[in-house]
Amino acid sequence: MPYSPGSRLPGETASKLGHLAVVESEWVKSLIKDFEDYQSDSSNVNEEMWQIFDPTGHVPLRNIWAVDGSFVAIKTDSHPPKEVSFVKTALLSVDKGRLDLIDKEHPHPLLLQDILKDSAVFHATVFPLKNVKTSLGNNYEAIRHIVRDSMKVDEGGIFYETLKWLAYRKWETNSKFSSPSFECPHCHEIQTIGLTYDANEGKCEKCKNEVFLTDMIGFHLDMDEDSAPDSIASAYMLIMETLMLFTAVRLLWIHSDKSLVTDTLFIKDGPLSLRSQYSKLVPNIRSFLEFAKIKNRPIHIIGQEKSGAFFDHLSSISRHVPPHERGAGLHFAALSHHYVRQEVYRSPDLTNPYGKRTNWGEKLYVKVDPGTFMVLNLTTGEYIDDPEYPTADTLIGLSRILTTIPSLVSSRFEGALFPIELANGIASMSSYPSASILQKFVEHQSK
Ligand SMILES: [Zn+2]
Repeated sequence: MPYSPGSRLPGETASKLGHLAVVESEWVKSLIKDFEDYQSDSSNVNEEMWQIFDPTGHVPLRNIWAVDGSFVAIKTDSHPPKEVSFVKTALLSVDKGRLDLIDKEHPHPLLLQDILKDSAVFHATVFPLKNVKTSLGNNYEAIRHIVRDSMKVDEGGIFYETLKWLAYRKWETNSKFSSPSFECPHCHEIQTIGLTYDANEGKCEKCKNEVFLTDMIGFHLDMDEDSAPDSIASAYMLIMETLMLFTAVRLLWIHSDKSLVTDTLFIKDGPLSLRSQYSKLVPNIRSFLEFAKIKNRPIHIIGQEKSGAFFDHLSSISRHVPPHERGAGLHFAALSHHYVRQEVYRSPDLTNPYGKRTNWGEKLYVKVDPGTFMVLNLTTGEYIDDPEYPTADTLIGLSRILTTIPSLVSSRFEGALFPIELANGIASMSSYPSASILQKFVEHQSK
């Protein structure tokens, strides 16, 4: 997803507001001013939770992997309109040595091409959403099969292997774990024991129909028989981003050079979380990160949130927190669950521990210099069920990550990280054929 405009630098699409004559109105000017004053309300800023970071003695991470995705729904003009959704994800490896040579403000296209050469892996698929019929079965069955086939076929099945690695906790020696439990896509009975270790498919405990490992993820819970919502595409994108990132983690984890995985920064665009039914992989992801930490091979993963509640909150307080002048050093604040509830959501809910079910990362605010701030997610391994957690010392690899961040800051967009910008560029739909060509494709395919 693209970076949004900030107050200092423009976003990835130019703001059109400046061209509106109405901005000249005294009333509108006053409205905008009051709105901004409200936005920068400093009464709730807790400066004490911000700490200065001292990079002395910490080694920056050597290699970088970044993942990003996009999706677009295409409708035909026919009646009833046919609708499909294209999803594309990209995983990119960036050589930090080469990245450091690039002018982040005016990157030279040839140098960029050099960085991207042989270093990006794509994944793409298409889902029927409405009024598209296949001769093989209804929409519901079509999507179940497309999910399975897309994951299984692409890149010789390395992403699918990662799904199995996570589902069956394959990092543990002699693992015989079954998959997380899930609901049967046919009779909706919960498969309490999940699929047996390493299985690609199995029979439902109740109705005996065939179920796939990919059904465990839960896409069918968002669909009905004849149509599927857009959320299928966004959920698939998120799952694939997660699987692609963990494919890089997995391959480096089993690499003969044992130090490689720990010397790498893995970056995901967006929060480190999986919502609602898709959160079934969260406990296993947390388990692996804990396992790696205990084995003294910590995994350095960050997510960057470029919009949403945390981004808005940090934007509103950023000018009141250090550093206030250039050269004053990078500052950061780890957000405790209590702080998230009280200050960001302002809706204390004490019945559910914050983020326990859906998040595999915790929130960290970072301010690199007076004009550059960002919302990151860092991991802790197993969830710490305490409102005062996480603290900075429980965030995996915080020091090496913060040592690396300043060299990745892009000067093209506010608070942007260059590897995400690159991944965004290759994952975005602009590198697809234009919408009208996609539309023709859909019409042609569904005749
Ligand atoms: Zn069943």
